[in-house]
Order: sequence, then C-alpha cells, then structure tokens
Amino acid sequence: MEEHPNRIIRGYTIMINGFLIQLGLRALSMHGRAPLMLKCSEECGELSQAISKYLCTEAGMYSDKTMGELRQDIIDEMADVIITSLNIRLSMDITPRELEEAVHRKALRFEEKMDKVSGT
Ligand SMILES: [Mg+2]
Repeated sequence: MEEHPNRIIRGYTIMINGFLIQLGLRALSMHGRAPLMLKCSEECGELSQAISKYLCTEAGMYSDKTMGELRQDIIDEMADVIITSLNIRLSMDITPRELEEAVHRKALRFEEKMDKVSGT
C-alpha cells in the first residue's frame, strides 16, 4: 500500500477494542454468521432512515422529534453500524490491517474524486 504519512487513517483503536471483540465473539457463538450479517444490513437501513428523517425535518416536513433528537438518532445508528460491521469483521476473519487498508484506499479514492470535481 502506498504510504501517505500525513493521511493514514488509524482505525485500530475501535477494531481491536477488547470489549467490542468479546461482544462480537459472544454474538457470533450465540447466533452464527448469517444473522450477524443480516443485523448489519438492518442497521444500515436504520441509519439511512435516520438520515432521511433528519433531512426531511430540516427541510420543514413534520416530525415529532427535535433536530437535536434526530441528530442523536443518527449518532446512535452510526454506532450500531460500526458495531455490527465489526461483528462481520470477526465472523469473516477480516484482520484490522485488512480493514484499515480498505478504509485508507477508499479515503484516497474519495479524495481523488473531490480533487477532480474541484479541479485541484
Ligand atoms: Mg439501530
């Protein structure tokens, strides 16, 4: 992987968090891989819904929640997606390094696209 010393993303803090690993291994032994993968898919849908509600409310559509509550909903769903994604990592023996390299590679690709759009 090409080195970009000032732009390396360090995700190990979450990916090797002992509590999250123990929790994931426990869930894996209780439910097996497929339900954990489906749960992550479900959580991605919940995050999408939370984002949609936030933006619709911001645009003036009715909501029974405040913008602060809707913001917190997004944060909570992001946490669910992170946790369930890490469970998939465990269930598929994806190493922290593999995931970190993917995040780094995708972030660089994202940067390239933004540079292309902005003409820099
Ligand atoms: Mg959720």
